[in-house]
Amino acid sequence: MGGRKYFESEIETMDRSNLEKLQMERLQWQLKRCYEESPFYRERFMKAGIKPEDIRSLEEIVRIPPVTKEELREEQLAHPSFGRYTVAPSKDWAELHPSTGTTGVPVNTIWSHRDVKTIASWTARTMWNFGARPGDIVQNAFSYGLWVAGMSTHYATQELKCFVLPIGAAMTERQIDYLLNPGSTVLLCTPSYALHIGERLAQRGISPEDIPLRRGCFGGEGGTEVPATRKKIEEGLGIDAFDYYGLAEIGPTIASECEEKAGLHWVEDHILIEVIDPDTKEISRPGETGVLVMTHLTKEATPMIRYWSNDLAKLTTEKCACGRTHARSIGGILGRADDMIIYKGAKFYPIQVEKVVRSFTELSDEFHIELTTDERMGTDICTVVVEQMAERGDTEILASSLKKGLKEELMVTPEVDIKPLGSLERTTFKAKRLVDNRKK
Ligand SMILES: [Zn+2]
Repeated sequence: MGGRKYFESEIETMDRSNLEKLQMERLQWQLKRCYEESPFYRERFMKAGIKPEDIRSLEEIVRIPPVTKEELREEQLAHPSFGRYTVAPSKDWAELHPSTGTTGVPVNTIWSHRDVKTIASWTARTMWNFGARPGDIVQNAFSYGLWVAGMSTHYATQELKCFVLPIGAAMTERQIDYLLNPGSTVLLCTPSYALHIGERLAQRGISPEDIPLRRGCFGGEGGTEVPATRKKIEEGLGIDAFDYYGLAEIGPTIASECEEKAGLHWVEDHILIEVIDPDTKEISRPGETGVLVMTHLTKEATPMIRYWSNDLAKLTTEKCACGRTHARSIGGILGRADDMIIYKGAKFYPIQVEKVVRSFTELSDEFHIELTTDERMGTDICTVVVEQMAERGDTEILASSLKKGLKEELMVTPEVDIKPLGSLERTTFKAKRLVDNRKK
């Protein structure tokens, strides 16, 4: 690829001491305005017995208690419509983006007019990271509307001077038609939907070589960085596949892989990233898995100070081979802290099951993990439900090698249930991997 290497060269390759200086300046600005203009935040500071000026280094931010989604929800119920954590005046508001609300009432976040510009710009950077360039035809199969990712990537395509097809997350046959004509060059969607599109492409007898698509970035759920999943997406669509991450409360698309595929690069000049040990609430050591906690350094309307994401990741500040200095999460998002399964004393996450399932060519891409109760014994049963591709070997032999593979990864052996191809539901949005049918 010719042309310039980075979207914003100076900021993306800034040495870490200057980057941290910039973060500190922006953090002080943000803490001060939240303290002065948001009763929600001021009360939290007062409860912790601190003032914004007491935070004299980036590390000291741990003195401020983290904000959970539950607290934001309660705040909004107590102070409708948007809670008291809106800092910019309402005349500056541009867009409303509630979270998807999988666990109750949605939590509203607001983008001011300036936030829209900032978000478009950092999202454009995350797209440039994986190789989107002016002139690309971007098939945007992220869901549009209230869900954040569709809008932010749409705006970013305009920043990048791409040609966007705002198709959204639906109509798989139409997706394939557009891949053929006009022939999109970049695809954006969830990894499970990318696998589904690949599957349909094969069923329609279209070879990946017959479409001009060259790369795709996949987010909204984990999985792209699972080697076998990445390989399946890449082979199914004939592309280079990259990982993407974001969340409604912080920003839709705040981290993406670069062409080195060496972990998610954060936009650290806009968001301060911490990885926190969920038990001790201390900062995890480099390379240790913990919960991502994020602070807005530039956001105006609904800034988050130490938002507890519940997503698990590792963090390294080592300079990437691409030359960028912003921190990375190698291996991407490693699960949800509340998706942790405790089974017969072992702890594991659905993404680990995915890693094993996807390494079997005899199995389709779909799977789920079902928790039930053994009523006779009163104990939990964990079953990994998968689909066998037609005419791919003996089911019993497959079941025993799958169990063996799962035991190696999870340190415990779940039950397995191998169903015929097509038994499990396909999704165009986020795949639901964990089904809890236990008797409470
Ligand atoms: Zn890189």
